[in-house]
Amino acid sequence: MNENELAQHQWQSTLQANYGVPAISLSHGLGAEVWDVEGKRYIDLLGGIATNILGHAHPVIVESVSSQISKLGHVSNFFSHPEVLKLASNLQEMVGDKSARSFFCNSGAEANEAAFKLSRLTGRTKVVATHGAFHGRTMGALSLTGQPAKRDPFLPLVKGVKHIPFGDIDAMRKAITKKTAMFIIEPIQGEYGVVMPPAGYLKAARERTLETGTMLVIDAVQTGMGRTGTWFGYEHESITPDVVTLAKGLGGGLPLGAMIAIGKYAELLTPGSHGTTFGGSPVACAAANATIDYLKAEKILEANIVKGQHLKSELAGVAGISEVRGQGLLIGIVLNQPIAKKVAADLWEAGFIVNPANDSVIRLAPPLIVSLDQLNQFILAIKKVVTSHG
Ligand SMILES: *Cc1c(COP(=O)(O)O)cnc(C)c1O
Repeated sequence: MNENELAQHQWQSTLQANYGVPAISLSHGLGAEVWDVEGKRYIDLLGGIATNILGHAHPVIVESVSSQISKLGHVSNFFSHPEVLKLASNLQEMVGDKSARSFFCNSGAEANEAAFKLSRLTGRTKVVATHGAFHGRTMGALSLTGQPAKRDPFLPLVKGVKHIPFGDIDAMRKAITKKTAMFIIEPIQGEYGVVMPPAGYLKAARERTLETGTMLVIDAVQTGMGRTGTWFGYEHESITPDVVTLAKGLGGGLPLGAMIAIGKYAELLTPGSHGTTFGGSPVACAAANATIDYLKAEKILEANIVKGQHLKSELAGVAGISEVRGQGLLIGIVLNQPIAKKVAADLWEAGFIVNPANDSVIRLAPPLIVSLDQLNQFILAIKKVVTSHG
């Protein structure tokens, strides 16, 4: 039995079965590369699912986390500290609205739970979300999630949530009324297979929600932190939502989520109405601030767009690939056969970590510091693998 097989055995005898048994056990990483316990090297094109924005063991993360934990680890929300203030002010500037106020938590599900609870404080209770949406796994976030396979075993969920087809402007205008408390959407449905709405959808959603006085929530958990080439993934339609939820890349690899409310929605939470013990921890906030500073200083967002376009143009027209979609470095490679699981397994074998988002889509969400040379190695490898299945 090799080290990876040993890890599988240990996993099975000690962990619950909700994730399936991982085939590979990772030991360390550097930049966009990771090594498994057998010493095999991989180029990481998934980045811990859109999370390790700066890759593995990045010096600015190592420095910020080590220096913070060595002076102040956890304080609880009875106390303020410099890193949480700096992060809230960074986010206010990134959202571009002085009225923006942050609530910090530890995950995407919690950020969406917070938005869901905020919507109740508007005095309305009806919610609209979309088919295929992924907003998290806790009972409230799952009630917003639009995927029956994930929901059905856990019914009944929270009442009053209506799901409509993603990207359908007419259906959206009809479903959202003056009774709707909130409409929640992802700028791109990442988990569902990097599904893009038609141009103008976010703008139409902003218009309709302003007409009806409905809180517009953008779930930027996966598209946020520069992944699409803008900070949160909605800016290309030049809208300002009422609420933005963040997690995944926010902490630069550390667990951190945020629910940012803007304008009158920033005034709805009052002392005692919501909270979480670890939210806004000094260590996670220090990592987030270091990540944001680095993204700005190195102009990473601009570079993302170039890298994403390079992937799209190099893979367009390859036999076996019907479409390459997405924005910046959130990319869905659509295969013309339902063989994404096999293709992903072959790519792992060849030393490239990718994710089969569904039967026919390979999702890429690499660290934003991935190099063109690493992307070119991947392009060669996937062409070879896809051709071999032709
Ligand atoms: C991953 C994800 C979530 C859930 O985040 P967790 O940290 O896993 O709870 C919510 N929304 C979107 C868009 C996501 O991609």
